[in-house]
Parts: sequence; structure tokens; C-alpha cells
Amino acid sequence: MSTGGGAHAHHIPTAIDPAVASVSVVVAIVTAFLAFELAGRTLRFPDGPRRGLLTVAGVAMGGGAWAMHFLETVVSQTSSGSSYRLELVVLSAVLASAGAAIALALVTHRVVSVRRVLASGAVLAVALAAMHDVGMAAVQGAGRTHVHPVGLVASLVVALLGASTAMAVVSAIVSHRTGWTGRRRLIASVVLGGTVAAMHYAGLAGASVDPEHVATGSGVALSTSALAALLTLGMSTLLLIVTVDSGRQKRRAELVSDLRVIARVSRDIGRRGDARTTVCRATRELVGCDFAMVLEPDGDGSLVVRAAWGEDAPVRVSIAASGSVCASVLASGQQRFVGDLRTAGRVDQASVESTGAVSALFEPVLLDERPIGVLVVAWRSRIGMPDGRVRSIATLLAAEAAVAIERADLVARLTEQALIDGLTGLPNRRALDESLDASVARAARTGAPLSIAMVDVDHFKAYNDAHGHPEGDRLLAALSATWKAELRGHDTVGRYGGEEFLLLLPGVDTAVAAGVVDRLRTGIGQPVTCSFGVATWDGGETASALVSRADQALYAAKRSGRNRVVVG
Ligand code: GH3
Ligand code: MG
Ligand code: MG
Repeated sequence: MSTGGGAHAHHIPTAIDPAVASVSVVVAIVTAFLAFELAGRTLRFPDGPRRGLLTVAGVAMGGGAWAMHFLETVVSQTSSGSSYRLELVVLSAVLASAGAAIALALVTHRVVSVRRVLASGAVLAVALAAMHDVGMAAVQGAGRTHVHPVGLVASLVVALLGASTAMAVVSAIVSHRTGWTGRRRLIASVVLGGTVAAMHYAGLAGASVDPEHVATGSGVALSTSALAALLTLGMSTLLLIVTVDSGRQKRRAELVSDLRVIARVSRDIGRRGDARTTVCRATRELVGCDFAMVLEPDGDGSLVVRAAWGEDAPVRVSIAASGSVCASVLASGQQRFVGDLRTAGRVDQASVESTGAVSALFEPVLLDERPIGVLVVAWRSRIGMPDGRVRSIATLLAAEAAVAIERADLVARLTEQALIDGLTGLPNRRALDESLDASVARAARTGAPLSIAMVDVDHFKAYNDAHGHPEGDRLLAALSATWKAELRGHDTVGRYGGEEFLLLLPGVDTAVAAGVVDRLRTGIGQPVTCSFGVATWDGGETASALVSRADQALYAAKRSGRNRVVVG
């Protein structure tokens, strides 16, 4: 910066046009606002993306100040320039942008200190002053520009104060984690924009031009209109960068929230009751569809709803229905999208009507590459082919559904194995003990009678010896089926162990129990007989005491000749 006035220096005509001044101030404020918006986002990201964002933010802030400076110059012609030196115009933009980026990097640090704020303010102030000075030097044909020391100091002081204040506002927001509310950002932007404008006009007010030293310089000369075009181009590029960047930010934010929901789903699948429902719910939440369903084969040639979110209608689709979309997705394991289910052939119209679905994405649920169900993602209004994000989410959640289904089936199988006797399909000893405890508790609560009977096949060892063990097994299974069919719904028959069975007859007193049991005895329909010991809960004894009384009655039946009922 050349200081001091030459003997022939003239004051630059400084008739400041208020309209031009306001537009330039607004430009400075708006670009500062954009820059703060971008800088604010950097806090959420690790270093890689943060650096990129800071560069964009720096370009927005520095470019804004630069644009404001030249806008004023071009429009008001205060510097009476006839042309501009391209390399200096560019240099001034680079200086401003780099300084702004460094200042923002300093101040959007997680650990905030006064030193950082002051350093950031100083860097920004110097960068802006340099931009301003280089910008003035870029003007050709107006003579060498001299800046009075007072003007220089004034503009630097204004710059330091303004830039530091703006950065202090930024750092306060950062350190207090109060968030970049629009209002706070606006304050910071007004301060910074105002500073840039104040610097510019303070600089102008203190500058003078020496007409004897007409600046010519080498390099590319820009006419006023070319500079105006460059400005327009620069600002448009800036706007484009900010727009593209905010699109990218939006997608990034979407990705972050998608990952959050998916992580929650993975966690919930292990914890919550119905994992399939969790998957359907997450699908709707992530994709924004109207409802989601998991369809699985029912073992009878149909696909049925096993879980849904957003729709209650029972859907049943025949797997055999040739070419049905669901069936073909199940068979092929390939994702399919149908834009209009109402007019598409090969779609179960009853299901379409009952659910009101119009468009749907059908995603196979694959377990070890084998399709075991279909995740239906449906919309009640017509939509176009979903984008890659939606399709990937469907695939991901279908994979979660597969894990859920496998787990649920395993749990169901284990539960069954734990409580059901494999040979007869009757409740086993463990299940019987649980039912008996519950029956005794209910009898105690309601005062209703409770009778039980212990049953043992007579001379079963001899039967096995005569016909072989497998035949003995078959007989036990046949006996179980007969008794199960014979008893009322709330009666229970279970395999207590070996060839012994236990009957639970809630609400039945001794006399009725003896009658029921004798009917079973006479209706065995197998080449064996059975002995029965009946006992009725005495109103106070434990479940195991009740069982021992029935056992004793059974023993008495055996002793007294078998094939009979003894009441204990
Ligand atoms: P009792 O009339 O005194 O009850 O004579 P029993 O032969 O029935 O009695 P015992 O306790 O001597 O023999 C029970 C037999 O039941 C022996 C065992 O091999 C047979 N058994 C127990 N569980 C099974 C089973 O699951 N399958 C078959 N086939 N036989 C079984
Ligand atoms: Mg026995
Ligand atoms: Mg026996």
C-alpha cells in the first residue's frame, strides 16, 4: 500500500451514491450470512469435509467483501478508472477468500479462546485491507492511488474492530453450543458486512489520486463492463457452490439420520418384542411410504402378512398365482417396483383395494441368498421409480427382516422344544408343572374346584417287548391323540414322563373327574389298558402335594388289578 500524498495528488471524488452504498452493504451482509452458515456446518464434521467447507465458507465471505468492493467501484466510478488489471482483481479476491477461510478456521474451533478470536479478527482485517488496497491498485487510468495514513489507520482500526466483533459473535455461538440460530447469524453477518462496507468507504475517503503517475502497468486490462461481467460470474459461481454444497449437506444429513434409524433398528431387533414390526416401522420412517408389510409363506401356498406398519388389512396372496408380483419376487429374489398397482396385471386386486396401495416396491427378504419373504413398501398415491436411497434402504431393511425372521423362528422352535414333547406333541413335564401351578393359583383365586389324574399304561414293558419299541412309540402317540380329542378345550393332557400322563381338569370336582377319566379309560381304542389315579385339590395343598396324592391313587389302582380309576 502506498501511503502519503504526492504534491499533485487530488482527492478521489467521493460523492457516495446512497443507493450504490446500500446495495454494496447488502451484498456484504448476505455473503457474510452465507459464509457463517457454511462455517457453522463445519463443526459437525471431521477434518476432511471440514477443510472443504471452510474453503467454501472462506470463498463466500472473502468473495462477498471483494464483490462489494468492486461493485461499488464499477457502479459509482468513484475511482474514475477506465480499466482494471485482471491479475490484481483476481489477487484481491484470492487474498480476501484465503484470509476469511483462515479466520473462520481459527474461530470455529471446538476449543475457543480470546486469543483465537483476536487472531481470527486480525487475519480477517488484514486480508480485507489487503484486498481493498490491491483492489484500488487494480484501477488503471486514474493515476497512482495514495492513501493518507489517517485513512489507512482508520480503515484498519474499523476492520480490526468489526472483524473481531463478528468473530467473537461466531465464537460465542460455537463455544456455548447455542446453535446457529438465524438471529445470531444475522447479527454476525450485519457486523461483518457493515465492517467491510465501512472499511471500503473509510479507505476511499482517505485516498487520493496522483494524476501525474497514471497507472498503466502490464498484464491483462479489463474494461469496466468486463469487470462487471467478472463480478457477475464470480457471484454466480459462489451461489452455485453454496447451492450445490447445501444439496450435498442435505444428503449428508439424510445419510446421518438414516444411519441413526438403521442403528436403532438393529438394536431394537434384538430387544423388542416383534422384530418384523420394528423393520416395518423403520421402513415407513426412513422411506416416507404410507405403509410397509412383511409377507411370508404360510405353508399352505399363500403369502400372508406377518407384520405391518401403517396398514391393518389382512393381505393374502397366492404364491401359485402364476406371475403374481409378490410370488415372482419371492421366486426370483429380485427387487421389483410397480408404479400403478391398480392397472398392473399380475397383482392381487383384492389386496390392492383393501389397502388402498397405488405404488409399491417389492423387496425380497433373503436368508443366505434364499428368499423367505417379501418386504412390501407401499404408497397410497402414485409415485415414480424410487431413487437409489429408497431402494437401498429397502434392501438393507429386508436384510434386517431376514435376521429378525431367522431369530424369531429359532426362538419359536426353541420355545416349542422346551415345552412340547417331541413324540406325542403334548405339553411336556416342564410345561405341565407350569400349567399345574397356574391352575392351582387360579383355583385358589376363583374358588372353583380343580381335579387332576395321573395315568400309566399297564404292562407297557411287555407291550414293547412283544411288538418292539417303535410300535410302543406309535401307541403312545395314538393314545395322546385320542385323549386330546376327547377332552374339553381348557382341560390339559400332557406327557409326564415315559408312559405316564397327567390330566388337568379345572373347574371339575371329584365325582365329575372320576366320570370323565373313566370315559377315557373305556375309550382307549388300543390293545392296552391304563390305570388312573384321581385327586382333587383340597384348597390348601401345594401343586406337588396334589400330584403325589394322584400318584398314590394310581399306585393303588395298579395294586388293585390295573385298568381302573382310583380316587385319592
Ligand atoms: P405297569 O403296569 O406296572 O405300569 O407295568 P409297565 O411295564 O408299564 O411298567 P414299567 O415301569 O415296568 O415299564 C414302563 C415301560 O415303558 C418301560 C419303558 O421301556 C416303556 N417306555 C417308557 N417310555 C417309552 C417310550 O417313549 N416309548 C416306548 N416305546 N416305550 C416307553
Ligand atoms: Mg410307569
Ligand atoms: Mg406302566
